Amino acid sequence: MFVFRVLVSLLIFETLVFGVPVVFDEGDGDGYPDYDTFKTLELLGDRIFGEPRPSSGTSVSQWTPTSDVFPEELGEYHEGDILHPYPSGRNGLRAKSSRWPNKTIPYEISPYMRGADRQMIQEAIDEFHKHTCIKFKERRESDFDYVYFTNGNTGCWSSVGRIGGRQEINLQTPGCTSQRGTVIHEMLHAVGFMHEQNRPDRDKYVIINYQNIESGKESNFDKAQTETVDNQGIGYDYHSVMHYSGNAFSRNGRPTIEPKTRGVTMGQRKALSKKDIQKVQKMYKCRKGNKHPSTFDD
Ligand SMILES: [Zn+2]
Repeated sequence: MFVFRVLVSLLIFETLVFGVPVVFDEGDGDGYPDYDTFKTLELLGDRIFGEPRPSSGTSVSQWTPTSDVFPEELGEYHEGDILHPYPSGRNGLRAKSSRWPNKTIPYEISPYMRGADRQMIQEAIDEFHKHTCIKFKERRESDFDYVYFTNGNTGCWSSVGRIGGRQEINLQTPGCTSQRGTVIHEMLHAVGFMHEQNRPDRDKYVIINYQNIESGKESNFDKAQTETVDNQGIGYDYHSVMHYSGNAFSRNGRPTIEPKTRGVTMGQRKALSKKDIQKVQKMYKCRKGNKHPSTFDD
């Protein structure tokens, strides 16, 4: 009885001090093993590391909403917009990332971002809050891992998943904040998702026209490997906010990606699609039934 009382007091004490009872878990400390998607990053190795480049900034600054590609396809980063800036003082680069614990992503917005850009970020956050259980909350000092929205570099880019410490979502303004969907797209990378058209089963749904791809950009269309990506049982999604446009990385204005189903439009930058929402809900184990379906009409 005495032992039991001591145990109960300890548990109450620890709950008061730490907020939640300590549980033993595996991997990254969130109580769940790391999600398989992130193994892809380890396989990509050095390719996702780099530094922002001025020439990507020029391309994005010349982008207009009437362009036939999305601004995040203009970067010279892995698949256009996936960039893990070189970690300082770390040798033996190996990409590691994981899901966000407690479905919560602390964030901060650079003071250099204008009101209209902040508004666009807020709208993108609202989209996640409306449709998924992911919570973006303003960072407190005690939050070590967080996302920093900034326009301090060139291009639109993000790291994939939680990589530890401060990680940037760079949104060159105004190009990357012209469409709410571009902001949502970069945020979905930070949540943990890659590009839809590179999933392992994509050849059943799209044709990649390599003859139309700019020379040297072919690797942006590399398929993720079957054994490392789990599509969570959710079918291919032409309407995903994570799908490239048909003319991504085109060298001649002709399509680099063509749908095998006629008349379908690929990629949109308006909102989370129905399947985007389902995937987030699965990855983060959202409870069903308490969230609105997509307002994006596909
Ligand atoms: Zn992207």
